[in-house]
Amino acid sequence: MKSIALKLLTALALTIPAFAAGEPKHEKKVAGPNGGRVLTAVEPHLEFLVTKERKVEITALTGDLKAGKLSGQVIAVFAGERSQPTKLEFKEDGGRLVSSNALPKGNDFPVSVSIKPNASGKAVYEKFNLNLEVCPTCKYAEYACICAH
Ligand SMILES: [Zn+2]
Repeated sequence: MKSIALKLLTALALTIPAFAAGEPKHEKKVAGPNGGRVLTAVEPHLEFLVTKERKVEITALTGDLKAGKLSGQVIAVFAGERSQPTKLEFKEDGGRLVSSNALPKGNDFPVSVSIKPNASGKAVYEKFNLNLEVCPTCKYAEYACICAH
């Protein structure tokens, strides 16, 4: 009798950790194909990347976050202090949208990305802090950081 009870206890002890191991489901952050930030406010998603010249490059993404074809979305970026932001306008260049002007000075300022499905469509805004320092943990710039350190 005692040995059966022990066996049952052992079986219970083995099943309980299996339940506890069920992790809560949450979306994993991923970087864009060029190492930029993925803007998820619109479909298709877009990649927001700052180039060496401090220009902003927007790449349309496919459902599995690969570089895709532009679909006529119209982008504007407002960067810097809200009272006096710098407006970046975009032109198509090699299948991407590249800003004609550069970001203002500094390595950490707020940006607001205005995304219209087409020239006459309604704008959706994605706002975030554009921190250009490189994350020490995941090697991406902080604005595109995927490790949430
Ligand atoms: Zn990181």
